[in-house]
Amino acid sequence: MARGVPAFQCKAWICGTPGAVPKGGGSMQKRIGGLRRTGLTLLLTLLAVTTAAEPFVPLAERIERLAVLLDQDLALAGYADDTLDLRQSAITVHDCGSYPYSEGAAAPRSASIDLVRDLSVGLRQGLSCLAGHGEPGRLHPYHEYQAHRLLTLLESEAPKTFQCVEDDMFAVAVATSPQGTTLTDPLFRQLRSVSFPGVVLDTYRLGGVLSRRHDDETYREFFHLADEQIYEHRNGQPLRPANLHRYRDRPGLLFHEVVHWLGHEHSALYPDMAHLYETCCFGAEYISDAALAAGHRQTACTILRDDELWSNSYSRNRQMRIWHHKGYDQFKGAMRDDYDS
Ligand SMILES: [Zn+2]
Repeated sequence: MARGVPAFQCKAWICGTPGAVPKGGGSMQKRIGGLRRTGLTLLLTLLAVTTAAEPFVPLAERIERLAVLLDQDLALAGYADDTLDLRQSAITVHDCGSYPYSEGAAAPRSASIDLVRDLSVGLRQGLSCLAGHGEPGRLHPYHEYQAHRLLTLLESEAPKTFQCVEDDMFAVAVATSPQGTTLTDPLFRQLRSVSFPGVVLDTYRLGGVLSRRHDDETYREFFHLADEQIYEHRNGQPLRPANLHRYRDRPGLLFHEVVHWLGHEHSALYPDMAHLYETCCFGAEYISDAALAAGHRQTACTILRDDELWSNSYSRNRQMRIWHHKGYDQFKGAMRDDYDS
């Protein structure tokens, strides 16, 4: 930003305009000279102020600072009314006493602290990856810019909210978007409970715990439960069937969610940033076969290096055509085919 200032100033009034000084106008010449000096002084002052206010800090340093800030915050965090309050980073964690997996959770305060620790690990790994310092190596510079945008939001004083619910939505987690939430969003009710930027997590879905909200027929037909098991599930400890997924990489999930804060939404028509970033920077969560998972991870990273795709980010239509033409729109489907059954 500061680089644009000298060029503009030079054109307008530091260098003067050719022919602006009348012939033989000595006093005018002096005045112009004085103006030049004043202008130059002003410019130097302006540059000094700008430089002092916004020094350039490399991404790696900002990522490190953020991790240190979260650590400091955690050491001093207050906990009251089921809310963990992190002052410096302006983060609050609500109702997350049963994080991460509902059953067998630690004390509410330390469960909420666990969430912030997962977030901190996810931010460090995800942001470093986008900045080209992670395991996958250099990605397209467009993603460094996304890391810069996310860091700017995290460094800001804007309050950031993490809210936990139990058995209250079909998704594992959902994030607010800067575009707002529409009434037609199937998760409108949950999203309405947090303002932007916010994330809602369901600790039942995270833990692969069977919902208590199905009817008896569903338990019998789909989950093959006997009547005593249905009674126990409803009134005692909820069941966790082997075929329900327990989310392993929680830092990866939390990073995925905060990427949505940049306005990136899920779609098959254009690059699905949250999915690509989570898969390349963390791995394929729902695929336990190591070789298959590694292959998909590599594909996600290869897509994130495609110069033609990302240098067309300023033109949504052109980018959509490239996304489709190169068959990248098939990637998510191919991954889904390899999900654990
Ligand atoms: Zn998502």
